[in-house]
Amino acid sequence: MTPVPNGTGTANGSNGAAAHDAAVQGFSTRALHIGSEPSLETGAVIPAISLATTFLQDGVGGLRGGYEYSRSGNPNRNGFERALAALETPTTGRYVGKPVHGIAFSSGSAATATIMTSLPPNSHVVSVNDVYGGTHRYFTKVAAAAQHVETTFVDMDAEQGLEERIRSVIRPTTKLLWIETPTNPTLRLIDIARISELARGIAPEIRTVVDNTFLSPWYQLPLELGADIVVHSLSKYINGHSDVIMGAAITPDPVYAEKLRFLQNAIGAIPSPFDCWLALRGLKTLAVRMKQHGENALHVARFLEAHPLVETVIYPGLPSHPAQAIAAKQIAAQARKAGAKILAADPELAASGGFPYGGMLSFRFKGNPDDDTASEVFLRTLQVFTLAESLGGVESLVELPSKMTHGGEPIVLLSFLHVGC
Ligand SMILES: *Cc1c(COP(=O)(O)O)cnc(C)c1O
Repeated sequence: MTPVPNGTGTANGSNGAAAHDAAVQGFSTRALHIGSEPSLETGAVIPAISLATTFLQDGVGGLRGGYEYSRSGNPNRNGFERALAALETPTTGRYVGKPVHGIAFSSGSAATATIMTSLPPNSHVVSVNDVYGGTHRYFTKVAAAAQHVETTFVDMDAEQGLEERIRSVIRPTTKLLWIETPTNPTLRLIDIARISELARGIAPEIRTVVDNTFLSPWYQLPLELGADIVVHSLSKYINGHSDVIMGAAITPDPVYAEKLRFLQNAIGAIPSPFDCWLALRGLKTLAVRMKQHGENALHVARFLEAHPLVETVIYPGLPSHPAQAIAAKQIAAQARKAGAKILAADPELAASGGFPYGGMLSFRFKGNPDDDTASEVFLRTLQVFTLAESLGGVESLVELPSKMTHGGEPIVLLSFLHVGC
């Protein structure tokens, strides 16, 4: 790799070097080295935490390394953004060879809010119907009232009448198509290539946004599948240790990259240098963690499927999942290869017909769906899994969405598991 002094010349968010490196290096090589280049000053192999709010100028406007004031650009944020952009960089599809820009925010919700703020007033958004609760809240309670940006929610996974459903909601003012796959907590899968192509065919200016939080770039590369913007809650798998709230948008679209970079500074919903440092440290082990989450989740899914008290298990890597074919089609090359290795080493697991596809699974106990006794006893007596919201950390978590994160929604007593590594 070309040695790049940490943070030099990248304060404006140019990820040209990352685009080059992404084309020639493996996933973990990029995760370990991009944004973590040894310091030219001290030789330190890990970036120092740069807490300074402002930077010396050599004469008026004479910036060293492009840094001026830490809201506009910070070495830790920049290093992290380059690393994340490199991991989401596509190796197939229409964005191959284009520079990919990573833009970090103080939370996943701030990334969503900033993308929505980039739209002109009276724009329209089409969103998958079971989008993350906080995203739904922003669309309906903030964007609609404060910005006059209206969102229409559509069922995007049922094949029957899909094209008509999408066609019937798109308006001349539609700017974004917002997809989340797998969805939360029912783990339904959306065909990103199919939906984004459909929308572009109706109106070429529509951009497809994919919230890639649940799978991370290890399992899913939306920019290879036809998406234009990727959103992350980095608070989940990418930081991976349940100790940072942070978000990001990643895009090769120069118009949106420029708008989001401008708004990152103008709105100022930026992450701290320390959080960026932690998230970069977390990102380095993303591949090994994701492999293990997937293998462990497949084992737990198989165990639950064979259990006499369990009625249904929802895990997209299982043959029993109605959209396993979409998982098989959308899985990123590195995860497909690693999954095949895991199965080759475990013939019993391989014989089940499943494959590792992320760390999330849901299941339902047998019996009266209105009686949550079994679920409550189960959740109370678990010894390793922690009863808590969220996902993506190294530890295993479990929750009851109908009572915790999805109160009032008709999800009958699904237990939602995050299988740790
Ligand atoms: C957690 C989450 C968010 C919100 O991110 P925060 O970092 O908590 O603001 C958005 N989308 C998905 C899918 C999430 O799981």
